[in-house]
Amino acid sequence: MRWTRTSLASPALVILLALALFPAATSADEKRLSVYSAVATYSLPVIDRAGHEYIGLLELLEPLGRVSVEKNGARWKLRYNAIDSEFVSGKTRAKIGGHDYLLPLPFLVENSRGLVPLSSLSTLLPRFLGAPVNFRESARRLLIGDVAVQSSILLDPSTPPRLVLNFTAPVNPTISTEPGKLHMLFKREPVVPPGGQSISFDNKVITQVGYSESNGAAALDISANAPLMATFSNGGRTITVSAAQSSATPGAAPPPPTATAQQNPTGTPAAGQITSASSSGDASHRVLAVVDPAHGGTERGAALTGTLAEKDVSLGFARLLRHELEQRGFSVILLRDADLNLTLDQRAGAANAARAGIYISLHAASQGTGARVYTALLPVESPSNGTFHAWNVAQARALPISRTVAAAIVSEMQKRQLRARGSSASLRPLNNVLMPALAVELAPGPNGLADLPSANYQQQAAAAIADAVAPFRDRMGVQP
Ligand SMILES: [Zn+2]
Repeated sequence: MRWTRTSLASPALVILLALALFPAATSADEKRLSVYSAVATYSLPVIDRAGHEYIGLLELLEPLGRVSVEKNGARWKLRYNAIDSEFVSGKTRAKIGGHDYLLPLPFLVENSRGLVPLSSLSTLLPRFLGAPVNFRESARRLLIGDVAVQSSILLDPSTPPRLVLNFTAPVNPTISTEPGKLHMLFKREPVVPPGGQSISFDNKVITQVGYSESNGAAALDISANAPLMATFSNGGRTITVSAAQSSATPGAAPPPPTATAQQNPTGTPAAGQITSASSSGDASHRVLAVVDPAHGGTERGAALTGTLAEKDVSLGFARLLRHELEQRGFSVILLRDADLNLTLDQRAGAANAARAGIYISLHAASQGTGARVYTALLPVESPSNGTFHAWNVAQARALPISRTVAAAIVSEMQKRQLRARGSSASLRPLNNVLMPALAVELAPGPNGLADLPSANYQQQAAAAIADAVAPFRDRMGVQP
């Protein structure tokens, strides 16, 4: 786990931390150029001068090869690998590799930084690199070499419909939702348009996919008449978007249980899913529980022993909790059912998009005994922070129920001779979740660290959580 405990952080400190983690709104609007190449992917600030956009030439070339600069008054001599070039401040005429080159606007030197106009890049860079580049100027995206990630988009019109997006390389977009729309933002991946700018479907639920790109990022927007969920598989190369629960087809049979973890032939989890729904019990009273195994992928969480990572304990624990909750009539989504990276925003976004009745995040720790049950400690912020404020305190309305459920879990665990205590923590993504939300951190039991990976021990804790949560089912709202 990694968060600020109540006891350690005053409200003022919490605000400072929040400000440090989230750049101010102005910097989010800052103009950026994204560069994608086989050797590096990076983003540079774009500088406005006299109504034109400029970029630092040294900063642009440095990640791509060996660069040295020699400054002599207004004269700038730059060597990139074996190519010598010369630029003069205030002049459009330059020399690259022994040939004359005319810039569309004058070269600028500011604070000993050499700036070239953004509009020159598609002709300037090939002189240095010896190969054409794909500069998508209006979107400020520069693709060097054969790096473009292509996509294919297929609609499976069965009920509920699914949109299957296949990519030629793994992708990890930031996913957010708003009513009628699921938004995928690709900042790190050179995703290019899937044919046209938008594709419409003759379907009642999923109606359109739109592609757009701007300020160094590409986006896919999926429009629908029902809440959508995104599922990752095929090592991040496939994203399946489906209706969270089909409200567009009233009276339809509940969907069959979906297969969860996909295994490749070597038996290691090759595919992860942001969501995997399974269902049992009486459909009319089914409440959706989102269980979130914390950490995953390259983010291992705490090292519980020399060989045991928190991310593996949280996943095993989550699978047991899924079973226990299903036994008590919940539908359960595991936010990951494999070893993959998910951002905190993706976790909160998936839970909110699924309109779950409860969100339970699972952690593990080598310190202490029993379990700690956390509810959100909301940051004290000025309402003038607008959307940031809303996102940071999304939990506010559900917090009283969260606290009641957390107290029930603590008492249920104590009944089972499991030491437990509750507290609040400024722990993301709890504060970003709209529904009752809590985090349970499993610590060693009577047998010490050996308990953490023990299915028996985890099972005992999972059963206590499920027993405590079940009586609140009716207060958690039934799925549409
Ligand atoms: Zn953790």
